[in-house]
Amino acid sequence: MKKYQIALFIAVIVCLLTASFAYAQAEKLTLKMSRDFGYGGLNGDIQGLFSMKVTGPADLARVAFYIDSTEIGEVTQAPFNLQFNTDNFPVGQHELYAVGYSSSEQQYSSNVINVNFVPASESTKAALQIVVPVLVIVFGAILLAVVIPLVMGRGKIKELPLGAERKYGLAGGICPKCHRPFALPLFSMNLGLSKFTRCPYCGKWSAVRIQPLAKLREAEQAELEWGRGEVKEETDEEKLNKNLDDSRYQGL
Ligand SMILES: [Zn+2]
Repeated sequence: MKKYQIALFIAVIVCLLTASFAYAQAEKLTLKMSRDFGYGGLNGDIQGLFSMKVTGPADLARVAFYIDSTEIGEVTQAPFNLQFNTDNFPVGQHELYAVGYSSSEQQYSSNVINVNFVPASESTKAALQIVVPVLVIVFGAILLAVVIPLVMGRGKIKELPLGAERKYGLAGGICPKCHRPFALPLFSMNLGLSKFTRCPYCGKWSAVRIQPLAKLREAEQAELEWGRGEVKEETDEEKLNKNLDDSRYQGL
């Protein structure tokens, strides 16, 4: 009994091998699929407008295109291309293939393409899975460039003697409001050759032009000049007004 089962098993395998060999022999058409408009993801998930394209022997006269067992169209002259919309078919797994005929009605078969038609909403969802992380990165960069300097810049008014030589790092600028030079923060909004930033001395926001070092040193020297001219001490009332003025901008 056992021997009989083994013999049967071998017979079945041989039959299958022969059948697949015969099938491969008859497979004279090459079927390819291309996306015309829509979504084509990994693992064969597709949605939208696609084309089936067949190439075959020179005597190929007509090609019938199939989705599962349904013929969806026949093309009687080269190029043997047929466009279809996945939305016109039920969602799920499908087999795409073509059957060709020569002028003498000899039949050719094609390879089979396995695909999974997904609903339009799902393809949108898949597209969003790509778009959303990109948006997160973009907004993250904006956050770094604008919000963090805003927060870090708060109450950071440095007390530096007038005319002191300072380091400017990558770029330095001169405040258009109080005319004192300072290092421009790395993470700040670029406006062409200017950076939108907060002056650490007067605390006011403005577009500060990036200046060459020579200009910055000149501005340091200019500070000394004001220091000499400045004789009047600020009264308490003036100081209070100045603080109120500053706090108005700090609310930004
Ligand atoms: Zn300033």
